[in-house]
Amino acid sequence: MRPFSYGKPGSEQDALDCARSGDAMFIAGGTTIIDLMKLNVLVPSALVDINGLPLNKIEDQPDGSMRVGALARNSDLAHDPRIASRYPALSQAILSGASAQLRNMATTGGNLMQRTRCYYFRDPTCPCNKRHPGSGCSAIDGYHRIHAVLGGSDTCIATHPSDMAVALVALDAEVHITGSGGERRVPITEFHLLPGNTPEKETVVAPGELITHVTLPRRPFASRSVYVKLRDRASYEFALASAATALELEGETIRAARVALGGVATKPWRAVEAEEILTGAAVSEATFRRVAETALQGAVPRRHNAYKIELAKRAVMRALREAVEMSPEGSS
Ligand code: SF4
Repeated sequence: MRPFSYGKPGSEQDALDCARSGDAMFIAGGTTIIDLMKLNVLVPSALVDINGLPLNKIEDQPDGSMRVGALARNSDLAHDPRIASRYPALSQAILSGASAQLRNMATTGGNLMQRTRCYYFRDPTCPCNKRHPGSGCSAIDGYHRIHAVLGGSDTCIATHPSDMAVALVALDAEVHITGSGGERRVPITEFHLLPGNTPEKETVVAPGELITHVTLPRRPFASRSVYVKLRDRASYEFALASAATALELEGETIRAARVALGGVATKPWRAVEAEEILTGAAVSEATFRRVAETALQGAVPRRHNAYKIELAKRAVMRALREAVEMSPEGSS
């Protein structure tokens, strides 16, 4: 392991100052970064420990939205009764990921920044454009059962691993970032990047910038939201396909909808055209089948991962059915 310095600043400004030098990285729960440092996949010159910053609160805002601090632990967020009732897909997504011990450590900001589980990315002996730009992609002509069918490029087909981020896409969340250039807010759909020709760039967060919090708006569909995750085993496993859906219903008519996919795409994936089919439609199996087909219509199957297309369609349909059947907060 390469030697690195360690510092624990007491303020946001100090943290930003510490992260300005070289290839420093922020560390919070450490559930990704420590693993990858041990594997020599990440070799930062400095770790800036942000656990001393006051960024762990989950708060109601005057406009009805909620503000989730970047250091709010995944378990605290998932078990917050306000989150569980107003944004159930978010609670479900978090609780479907990792283990209880990891969720106790992992943070909201860290979850958004977690790295792919592509086996070749995590093995420094293999060519990988994401780890070493220009070295090649071992997955495209290799074994790619867990890889993406949506959003891939000729340089990378790694899936984004987060469950939480998929739910955030269905809930119209925004990510707040601060840095030397000031503060900015980014819609969650624009936070993660497609690999294109630069798979090493995974988010819009620039070196030295810090995520401070996530905003959850009060949308009419948020409380009728569901996360369905399909995987090889029932716990402590990443998604092969997942779906987050959110519906605003008036009787049997869908007024507004969100559909997001996980486990099948290179970033948390919003299926906008599928949502358009739902808006104004009556609840029916036929509509849900059309929505599922549309959500996967651009999928590019490869030798080992074509099964994901049907799996993801089933996840979408199940998540839509479950959203219809639930009794959300405020419903009569
Ligand atoms: Fe690397 Fe992406 Fe290819 Fe995996 S899919 S080996 S992360 S370039």
